[in-house]
Amino acid sequence: MNSPSTQFPHSVIPRPEHSISRASISPNALKVLYRLKEAGYQAFLVGGAVRDLLLGLRPKDFDVATDALPEDVRRLFRNCRLIGRRFRLAHVHFGSEIIEVATFRAAAAPEREDLPDDAADGAPEEAPEGALEGGDESGDYIEPVRVEPARIEPVQAADSEHRAFDITGRILRDNMYGSIEEDVWRRDFAANGLYYNIADLSIWDFVDGVSDVKARRLKLIGDPETRYREDPVRMLRAVRFAAKLGFTIDPDTETPIRRLGYLLDGVPPARLFDEVLKLFLSGYGARSFELLQKYGLFEHLFPLSAAAFELPPYAYAREMLERGLANTDARVVADKPVTPTFLFAILLWSAVLRELNERAAGPAPDLALLMQACDAVLKAQQARVSIPRRFAVPMRELLMLQPRFTRRSGVKALSLLQHPRFRAAYDFLLLRAEVGVADTELAEWWTRIQVLPQEERVVLVQARPQEPPLSADGGAPAPGRRRRRRRRGGASRN
Ligand code: ATP
Ligand code: MG
Repeated sequence: MNSPSTQFPHSVIPRPEHSISRASISPNALKVLYRLKEAGYQAFLVGGAVRDLLLGLRPKDFDVATDALPEDVRRLFRNCRLIGRRFRLAHVHFGSEIIEVATFRAAAAPEREDLPDDAADGAPEEAPEGALEGGDESGDYIEPVRVEPARIEPVQAADSEHRAFDITGRILRDNMYGSIEEDVWRRDFAANGLYYNIADLSIWDFVDGVSDVKARRLKLIGDPETRYREDPVRMLRAVRFAAKLGFTIDPDTETPIRRLGYLLDGVPPARLFDEVLKLFLSGYGARSFELLQKYGLFEHLFPLSAAAFELPPYAYAREMLERGLANTDARVVADKPVTPTFLFAILLWSAVLRELNERAAGPAPDLALLMQACDAVLKAQQARVSIPRRFAVPMRELLMLQPRFTRRSGVKALSLLQHPRFRAAYDFLLLRAEVGVADTELAEWWTRIQVLPQEERVVLVQARPQEPPLSADGGAPAPGRRRRRRRRGGASRN
């Protein structure tokens, strides 16, 4: 693909001609850069950190690229762990901050070798939920490919015995370290392909990346279709950076996406789980969702949900998702915790309802059917985007609690308030009320009771009349049962 012979001569932008100051670089990253330099190696800050610093933003993480081999890096830092089986990366730990140090790589290696499908579920079941937990937030973290033998079909083995592609062009194997001139070609967008040299504080720009950052433009390095085929996750990254940074996607980079979305079907579900968390839980979820739909990618991540959104009885679940994502974005801005459990509940609700209605004959389906519907949807979904059990189980609980909100009399109501999933389930109820499929009065009642002292809660539940039996859908979704409500003025949909 992008052979080094096609590279442009790189331009070096000296310190006085750019805006990056060491004061805005993490002191730990500076320590790593300087120690590498003092040991005689090349050391550069790379990728998103350089882009963000040029934009005047605070980078999420600071990644370093060097000509030192991983073993050399380990020798230099006591607090260093090597990760990855084939492409070894060094993680230098400073408390909770990890500086990732990658050795320059030749050729267009996969950015993150694919994890086994269950790898994202490696944490203990009782692990507490937290923002982005389970996701890989470690920058261009690379874990080895576990390639099932049947999937290896090297159709392009000609350029190197070290490299193998599958029939769609995806890189399966690539194990060469290289020089910085080679390293740049494996990066995705020119705006992400900049190197800040600690030796003289200049920026090395091989791909006209500074112009792209200035123009707020995402342009893939090399031939876009080839780059997407090598690693289809780059389509999701285009969406993510467009949403997060407000960059426009260059037409040549944009056009193939609509056509190539299906390539995501071949990406291991554990990797897509990580990407989905980055797309939806980083503060730009609502915009990411819009763009995923615009480019026809959402249906490849959540096919059952996307199909249900198109059916009138479940279309409102899309609005719930949009509102839920907007709320999540606001929580991120306010530095409040966000959880994959709630995220997957709003992502999968349309599919669960559809499944439930297809299983339920009568108007008041049994709770057991709701559980079966959740399980069926989760099972199908795992084939696309894996959802670790530690999120899938509470997600199912959250949905199973919805019908219980209609019970406001007696001890059942009191015990619901104590349920570990109450808060998330209540937030979900509020969303249902906002889009008109749950009673506003009901939601308000639960809003009020939460803040009362126990004695007053008891009085409140005792004052309630006898109530009808539970219906599994919390009284909402069966076709034709939606309550009338006023449409939001001017609300637009994709
Ligand atoms: P963020 O702000 O999300 O950290 P980032 O650009 O730093 O954005 P990372 O996922 O941290 O993104 O990756 C660091 C760098 O590694 C990228 O800037 C890019 O140069 C390279 N990279 C990461 N993933 C890929 C990929 N799939 N294909 C090509 N290059 C990639
Ligand atoms: Mg990064």
